[in-house]
Amino acid sequence: MTDFTLTRNADGVAVITWDCPGKSMNVMSFEGLRELEACIDEVLSDDAIKGAVITSGKDSFAGGMDLNILAKLKDMVEGDPAKGVFDGVMQMHGLLRKIELAGMDFKTKKGGKPIAAALPGTALGIGYELPLATHRIFAADSKAKIGLPEIMVGLFPGAGGTTRLVRKLGAMAAAPYLLEGKTLAPAKAKAAGLVDEVVAPDELVARAKDWVLSATDADLVKSWDAKGYKMPGGTPYTPAGFPTFLGAAVMVHAKTKGVYPAARALLSAVYEGALVSFDEALKIEARWFTKVVLDPTSSAMIRSLFINKGALEKGAVRPKNIGDEAVKKLGVLGAGMMGAGIALVSAMAGIEVVLIDATEEAAERGKAYTAAYMDKGIARGKATPEKKEATLARITATTDYAALAGCDLVVEAVFEDPGVKAEVTARAEAVLGDDAIFATNTSTLPISELAKASARPAQYIGIHFFSPVEKMMLVEIIKGRETGDRAVAKALDFVRQIRKTPIVVNDARFFYANRCILPYINEGIRMVGEGVAPWLVEHAAEMLGFPVGPLQLTDEVSIDLGVKIAKATRAAMGEAYPDGDVDEVVFWLAEQGRMGRKAGAGFYTYDEKGKRQGIWHGLLEKFPLADAQPDVHEVQNRLMMAQVLEAVRALEEGVLTDIREGDVGAILGWGFAPWSGGPFSWLDMIGAAKAVEICKELEAAHGARFAVPKLLADMAASGETFYGRFAPAEAA
Ligand code: NAD
Repeated sequence: MTDFTLTRNADGVAVITWDCPGKSMNVMSFEGLRELEACIDEVLSDDAIKGAVITSGKDSFAGGMDLNILAKLKDMVEGDPAKGVFDGVMQMHGLLRKIELAGMDFKTKKGGKPIAAALPGTALGIGYELPLATHRIFAADSKAKIGLPEIMVGLFPGAGGTTRLVRKLGAMAAAPYLLEGKTLAPAKAKAAGLVDEVVAPDELVARAKDWVLSATDADLVKSWDAKGYKMPGGTPYTPAGFPTFLGAAVMVHAKTKGVYPAARALLSAVYEGALVSFDEALKIEARWFTKVVLDPTSSAMIRSLFINKGALEKGAVRPKNIGDEAVKKLGVLGAGMMGAGIALVSAMAGIEVVLIDATEEAAERGKAYTAAYMDKGIARGKATPEKKEATLARITATTDYAALAGCDLVVEAVFEDPGVKAEVTARAEAVLGDDAIFATNTSTLPISELAKASARPAQYIGIHFFSPVEKMMLVEIIKGRETGDRAVAKALDFVRQIRKTPIVVNDARFFYANRCILPYINEGIRMVGEGVAPWLVEHAAEMLGFPVGPLQLTDEVSIDLGVKIAKATRAAMGEAYPDGDVDEVVFWLAEQGRMGRKAGAGFYTYDEKGKRQGIWHGLLEKFPLADAQPDVHEVQNRLMMAQVLEAVRALEEGVLTDIREGDVGAILGWGFAPWSGGPFSWLDMIGAAKAVEICKELEAAHGARFAVPKLLADMAASGETFYGRFAPAEAA
């Protein structure tokens, strides 16, 4: 297997082609680095070669380092992992620096061989760090992405990308690419200074070769290697640079609350690197990178957000032996908030949609949602009027069930009422072909019960979207007792078509995501009832890396929905209902007419524009602050364990059948602390024994809801980890 091959040419310019066999996109491996180094050595040592162009044999350049390697890097090193990782990174720096200096005499800056990068398409991570080390970057004009998205998976660019980009653009200008992982298409990348030339795709290599043949000694000297180099925007201890570095530290901390080690390490590498020579800065970058690689959060994030998310999207849990079930014509029943969103994402994915509601106006209103969404896209330059027309043309808004003829999938999103749902199921099935699959978007009603309204329960399934549909990436697929494999395959193929991430769970109250988020919300509200400062609750959650605290979340989803769910759950559970103390707070707020954000009043106050202000003081009058406030860690333990234990119970009860889905679903479904990799990754990080210890303390102080599930107790006793015990063979 050869990833890099060198071709000699009569004009003296060697072409090094990166083309990983059997892969749709190049990714860098240890072997690849060795092969690249051999090619570079050949270029530099052979007098017959004047210079080189590094390009790709695929329509993209490279997707980055092989994340499967990065996730396990620290475990692959024998002996001292920190030393092993650091040495490996320094070797990579050595290779890229060799390309950059290209054999020149460092003193005179003469005698080097020009090396250009020619990027036919997407160039991410090390796929852009390698070009950054060459002397000129050519990119084919396209919509490809160029940049350094490492931060998204809990890393930062550690192959010199951090040091080079900051020295090239300055800390301020480099920040969006390093800190936010922003990527740009070639034309914009050129304007931003990320690439040097954008050329027609068919001229790419020829133009790069021409440049190599005409390059002078001066063209090969990077600004940071030239005499008198000054970092654009200034270094930390200059009047211009100081505010940038200070501001960046404040902004990053405000955004990450200190729970993302990579963001902090990146800042340190940039700050400390800016104070020393380029080669010293590379060493500093390598040290911080090593620290991040050794931190369990980076491997947990890579595993959940990349490897396992990707596996689920590719059908890891799809029933085998069922042919393609891609949806050709979709019926959506109910054109309200959810139905309108489902129609939108489906039409955008090229699926023909019949959108049905009880009245023409309601159906048209649902379709108008797509028009409004596309208009926003046009205003932002992300869509065109033609695309809008084509998308709208795919949606037929009607009240006529006969229009459902020929639909191979129907998703029902009518009122959350079993009677209404039963009626629309029967009406639709009367028109549908025998093969059609019928899905419900219910968020609270058991699928197996609703399936009783269907003449073919094996073809009945739950496809649970989250709101707003166009933004939320998770779709929960729920199997009823009688749901068959073809319905699961159809649902999974549909989710793949609309480019979302599926998890497949078994039927149980609130399925998986809502089942876990409710205890989080309830625990927060319960604490308010106990006299814990509401802001302590909210900040404790944010400091754990949750996007919103439980009280804000309740305001967002609305207090009346909370009341509705509480009443329904109480009716279903009777005496066993455990959340009376939570209802005291929520029902009281509802009585005050404080229905949450939409009413401009809830746990928080809001200004006329609906902007959230502070906690409402009336809340403190009704539920006065207790004299003794808990330690923030205790609040955090309560908020964390409330949901994590629910995830463990869902696994124990067989609602979840794959912990990968439990982790990915938690992050995408309700924003569970992404740095942790999900509830199961977090438990593995702290260890089952520690988790049991925390739960025992919480149970003694706060009650049986924190009792240790048997599964967790067993694992603590045996010293096992969730991924050690439950990860499917092919997964990490
Ligand atoms: P909604 O009230 O906004 O929309 C429901 C729509 O169904 C309305 O337009 C109504 O006119 C229509 N409808 C009612 N009876 C009908 C009938 N007989 N025939 C055709 N249309 C009919 O409600 P929603 O928020 O979109 O929720 C719809 C479903 O999705 C519910 O089952 C809900 O539990 C579920 N859900 C909601 C959310 C959420 O956040 N709102 C999230 C996930 C799932």
